[in-house]
Amino acid sequence: MQKYEKLEKIGEGTYGTVFKGRNRETMEIVALKRVRLDEDDEGVPSSALREICLLKELKHKNIVRLYDVLHSDKKLTLVFEHCDQDLKKYFDSLNGEIDMAVCRSFMLQLLRGLAFCHSHNVLHRDLKPQNLLINKNGELKLADFGLARAFGIPVKCYSAEVVTLWYRPPDVLFGAKLYTTSIDMWSAGCIFAELADAGRPLFPGSDVLDQLMKIFRVLGTPTEESWPGVTHLADYVALPSFPPITSWSQIVPRLNSKGRDLLQKLLVCRPNQRISAEQAMQHPYFTESSSSNH
Ligand code: AMP
Repeated sequence: MQKYEKLEKIGEGTYGTVFKGRNRETMEIVALKRVRLDEDDEGVPSSALREICLLKELKHKNIVRLYDVLHSDKKLTLVFEHCDQDLKKYFDSLNGEIDMAVCRSFMLQLLRGLAFCHSHNVLHRDLKPQNLLINKNGELKLADFGLARAFGIPVKCYSAEVVTLWYRPPDVLFGAKLYTTSIDMWSAGCIFAELADAGRPLFPGSDVLDQLMKIFRVLGTPTEESWPGVTHLADYVALPSFPPITSWSQIVPRLNSKGRDLLQKLLVCRPNQRISAEQAMQHPYFTESSSSNH
């Protein structure tokens, strides 16, 4: 820690407290994340440490850079690139209005970050507005990539805040244990809808069942026909059979038709039918002429 001076606290996250810091040699401002591990007596598991060190090689302009991994006294501090604020705080500053060009730009940057990580077989698994960081110049960067695999997703945050279910896909809510890149694509869909609605979450469920009900009321309840294997998932429960909604313009009124089409390709219950980040980046919503409102 000699190399970095710890400055003020800037946030509480899933894995611990985040401080602003300064590299004493270069004077560069960084974010210092002190990871709190449950089994503190055992220290940091070597498997987690190996995973984390690999993340130092994950370099992309839409991924928050991991500069350093400091491991001493059984404690772990991750040194990240510092960003101005997170998307959740940005939403709070909007007063319910968002420029749709900003929505589109953030979405494209989110997909670029995802495509890069997925091409390196790294999943996020816990994407949400709090870990999308933004800079004053309009850059968006994904934070906490790969940490879920190293540390697992705890039930409670360090700050005792409950881990949010709002961005979790139905397969994971039903107990699917095989995680693939499709998990992040669902979260990206939820974030896209939230961006288009200036920060109003799409599926703000209060528990697992409420979360699933909120999803199925919009997308329709899946069946063995629409999603083979769904009833065999570990935590599957039969839920009322809702039909899919017919008008997406009521759900995301500010999003144009191309945007609504992309959203529907992300929010697909059956995981292997969800669009990939690479495909989503090529969607007509992102071509110049689609900036109209229709
Ligand atoms: P996280 O554990 O990534 O969810 O971090 C908790 C909070 O700390 C975030 O919501 C941000 O407000 C802040 N934070 C985390 N990482 C950074 C960073 N690299 N730069 C600036 N703020 C950060």
